[in-house]
Amino acid sequence: MSSAIADIVSADALDFAADGAFDVINPATGEVFAQAPQIGDKALDLVFATAQDAFQSWRRDEGVRRAALRAAADAVEKRADELVPVLTAEQGKPLNDALEEIGAAAAWLRYYAELEVPREVIQDDAVAYQEVVRKPLGVVAAITPWNFPLALASWKIAPALRAGNTVVLKPSPFTPLATLALGQVLRDVLPDGVLSVVTGRDPLGAAMVAHPVPRKVSFTGSTATGKKVAASAADDLKRVTLELGGNDPAIILPDVDVAAIAQDLFWSAFRNNGQVCLAVKRVYAHESIHAELVDALATIAATIKVDDGVVAGAQLGPINNRPQFARVSELVTDALGRGARAVTGGAPLDRPGYFYAPTILDHVDDGIRIVDEEQFGPVLPVMSYRDEADALARANRTNYGLTASIWSGDAERAFALATEVDSGQVTINSHGAGVRPNLPFGGHKWSGLGVENGPWGLYGFTELQVLAGPPRRK
Ligand code: NAD
Repeated sequence: MSSAIADIVSADALDFAADGAFDVINPATGEVFAQAPQIGDKALDLVFATAQDAFQSWRRDEGVRRAALRAAADAVEKRADELVPVLTAEQGKPLNDALEEIGAAAAWLRYYAELEVPREVIQDDAVAYQEVVRKPLGVVAAITPWNFPLALASWKIAPALRAGNTVVLKPSPFTPLATLALGQVLRDVLPDGVLSVVTGRDPLGAAMVAHPVPRKVSFTGSTATGKKVAASAADDLKRVTLELGGNDPAIILPDVDVAAIAQDLFWSAFRNNGQVCLAVKRVYAHESIHAELVDALATIAATIKVDDGVVAGAQLGPINNRPQFARVSELVTDALGRGARAVTGGAPLDRPGYFYAPTILDHVDDGIRIVDEEQFGPVLPVMSYRDEADALARANRTNYGLTASIWSGDAERAFALATEVDSGQVTINSHGAGVRPNLPFGGHKWSGLGVENGPWGLYGFTELQVLAGPPRRK
């Protein structure tokens, strides 16, 4: 373990009296390279009690909170170089992608520092005074997955803190270190207890949701875990926001210029090795352009440099963890056994670590697992359709509804079709253009409950209160 990482881990372990430690694996080697503290029940009680104490003063002064978030954004930008290698070592993504993710985390902190939130005075005249106030909820339990540990943490920390809550944040056990490091960076600019990072295996997440102190759970992860979170939170009616899995369709209309869209479409599916909730996970291409599109995507896939994220020029790293690597392998093997053709890829790379060749699958159809389930890896099935109604019906037929895209030479035609798609965002001629701090992000159906980002995400960390009474002195 490098000394920078050792410092990060031991500093947090001292704060919260960890109950032992667990291994952290570098997915590029498959070897353990560090350990992270395992927080037990007593330490969790202490962390939540500290967060509850901190809430009493943190909730009172919005000016202090905005200044602190500004300082937080500055600190993350200033210390990005320290965070980058930690993120790459445990997550696998290339160093440039790690830097980009950290830049996004800073941008989200800054957005919520600067967001103007107008007061909502409904009536203020000689007759009556009525105002709708958005009060912070208290302590927030924030739980994140391993694909974008820092960016997704900022989607929770920034609005929750801005609204006046305090936060206890738990990263995935596959990627605990970068979040611990982020906690260290932010500790220098936030008052004690306002943000705490706790690390541990999955049961720690369950213990946080069941704990009596937090009033809100903000969860990002799989649909299966999200349902458990919802059930557990229901016990004492904790508020929940759930950002869950996706199986995003891209519908390609016959009038596209295949050569012009192929790169964008490819990266919409393969960015972060396909480990993106809103990656394109299935393509429906009109039958007239299907073969040309398959060829174009396969040509790009075959040129991609897959390597350890620390190697200069690596475009994709390994899959993040062994279970996910096994799942991707299993879904591809299943598809190949059912008649799919791997135009390129189709197998792990022959080297240590969790490397998988970027894979384009042809001769695939709805009803097989790689199409119906979320693959969350570097594999893209490309199907063909005859008419738009068929494409829309197939796009909408899963339980997921995170985002979707429609690609056409005629944007207006695509916008018209977009309203027929059941998902939280539909983008035209790109996929994921709606991921911005100021736009709501959230899934329909089993892809989520509630939204993050923009004022809508902020309001999710508040409770409404109406103040109504006689006219107020001016
Ligand atoms: P996961 O559900 O296995 O784990 C997510 C987090 O939940 C981890 O921190 C884990 O330790 C914790 N956890 C596990 N069991 C828990 C329980 N019973 N109660 C509370 N917390 C528990 O998901 P993952 O494999 O880490 O992430 C991949 C999934 O996340 C994919 O399905 C992906 O689509 C989804 N995701 C969604 C979004 C979004 O914004 N919609 C963003 C990124 C990832």
